[in-house]
Amino acid sequence: MNLLDLSIVVPCYNEEEVIDELYRRLTAVCRSLGQSYELVFVDDGSKDRTWPMLESLAAADRFVVAVSLSRNHGHQLALTAGLEICQGERILIIDADLQDPPELLPAMLDRMDTGLDVVYGQRRRRDGETAFKRGTAALFYRLITGLSEVPIPPDTGDFRLMSRRALNVLLAMPERHRFIRGMVPWIGFPQAAIPYDRHCRYAGTSKFPLRKMVRFALDAITAFSTKPLVLASWFGAGTALVTFLLAAYSLASWAVGNPVSGWMVLIIVIALFSSTQLLALGILGEYMGRMYEQTKNRPLFIVKNLLRWEPSPTLDHS
Ligand code: UDP
Ligand code: MG
Repeated sequence: MNLLDLSIVVPCYNEEEVIDELYRRLTAVCRSLGQSYELVFVDDGSKDRTWPMLESLAAADRFVVAVSLSRNHGHQLALTAGLEICQGERILIIDADLQDPPELLPAMLDRMDTGLDVVYGQRRRRDGETAFKRGTAALFYRLITGLSEVPIPPDTGDFRLMSRRALNVLLAMPERHRFIRGMVPWIGFPQAAIPYDRHCRYAGTSKFPLRKMVRFALDAITAFSTKPLVLASWFGAGTALVTFLLAAYSLASWAVGNPVSGWMVLIIVIALFSSTQLLALGILGEYMGRMYEQTKNRPLFIVKNLLRWEPSPTLDHS
């Protein structure tokens, strides 16, 4: 395979407002480096003008690779498609909305030159995000670090530079419900953080509504911990203890001739036990559903179009 020095992989979903500026800033950074590079844009089934815009970029610039998926597959799978297709020795993952500054790339490359395989951006500040988003993010990172055996660094996203050998390991992991910012630390190899300030979106709105955020958090937890399953047994033990105490109390009351009566207590007890059972079943279901999805072994994504200049561009920027 014709390896380039650098690939930049960008998943794009309804990002027509940012594409031009994104392309301009990425190109400026790459040209300043004097290395061979490619910009791999993956259109994740956008409904706006994202794809036609990417198509014309790819037609005009041979450093651009444009990929479109058959439908919306979600951020992590769109990213995986781009990672699969890219040809660089070093790979930068970045969001389309310019929240993460591409201008950090030279510093990331310098860090990598010290012998690292992964340099990940760690957010010092998060501008322009709602208190709700920041709060839920903080809670999520606390939860996942508590639950997971793999040390997942807090306040990191997918914004990271990776070596080819780290990427090849990542691509060999066939899991469907991907939490890439956890899978990369799982791989091992020398990795380090580079702190940066996260800006607000250049334009447009977040493509992660609450529903997608919750699903993403559940994917992360189920992929990196089995502790919630154990939690179900602890719940069971807890309710068994409550049962024992209640039984002892009602037997004692009956023995002294003052049996416990009451509809209310009965309802509370029934509700307590049935809800803990349903909760435990729900936890099991989250894991089982994902196991079922995985066993179907369907492809992770389906590529509709792939536009790339052949042969791939080398060093000269003409
Ligand atoms: N994205 C995607 N598919 C989706 C949702 C989002 O490819 O189904 C892309 C989106 O275009 C962006 C990145 O994922 O490049 C992160 O999305 P966004 O910035 O909207 O998320 P936020 O920063 O608000 O968490
Ligand atoms: Mg964003």
